[in-house]
Amino acid sequence: MSTLEVKNLHVSIEGKAILKGLDLKMQTGEIHAIMGPNGTGKSTLSEAIMGNPAYTITEGEILLDGENILDWAVDERARAGLFLAMQYPAEVPGVTNSDFLRTAMQTRMEDGKDVPLFKFIRELDKSVAKLEMREDLPHRYLNEGFSGGEKKKNEILQMLMLKPKLAILDETDSGLDVDAIRTVSKGIEMFKTDENAVLIITHSTKILQALKVDYVHILVDGKIVFTGDASLAKEIEEHGYEKFKAGVKNA
Ligand code: ADP
Ligand code: MG
Repeated sequence: MSTLEVKNLHVSIEGKAILKGLDLKMQTGEIHAIMGPNGTGKSTLSEAIMGNPAYTITEGEILLDGENILDWAVDERARAGLFLAMQYPAEVPGVTNSDFLRTAMQTRMEDGKDVPLFKFIRELDKSVAKLEMREDLPHRYLNEGFSGGEKKKNEILQMLMLKPKLAILDETDSGLDVDAIRTVSKGIEMFKTDENAVLIITHSTKILQALKVDYVHILVDGKIVFTGDASLAKEIEEHGYEKFKAGVKNA
């Protein structure tokens, strides 16, 4: 059992306060969803958990299994099993998708052992097929010239290959057509076990439908203002965030 605990987190970007006392607790086995209006700090939360240095933590703690990870670098957090599918995945010309994946997996191998090549290729091919991605994608430069949907699926591919303990998916469903959302959702289902946890940031319930979501949190103005079960997502999709924006905590 592994636990991620965010306590009273305050985060600023370029001197501007974005997160203002955010609390969140997750355990392995769980799926959490975060919903909230644009610009309220959802991506800021995911970047802060991952350790992006552009985001300054001014107060609070992020604990992984009880240990404060605030001064851990991004790669240390990745080695500890944290993973972020970014809202806007970066293009990395000159590095192929499969080289990137293999290097990322390599850093997580114990005793500097090599990732077994044949096993890697077999698993990569299998995941590419399951995600209904083009077969040439592993050999192309990371995200370069990928369509929006291909970039998002590529993040799910990384998740399937890297097998993190906690995967944060920041609007991985945004901009995808219905078939691609279903495929991404299947990918999450495939990934999910009792030994890991997923945090899904989304605006829609489509990606959540096939998944057993344990908690839905509403993030407004830098804080989680309400937490409910899976039915809350449906309610938000139908009625929006208005009553949460007004500061009503007990909907
Ligand atoms: P969300 O993901 O909920 O839409 P974000 O966390 O991306 O919101 O952004 C929260 C606020 O922080 C927004 O007002 C946004 O403009 C601002 N912000 C985010 N990233 C940066 C940045 N790199 N530089 C300056 N402001 C930023
Ligand atoms: Mg965002």
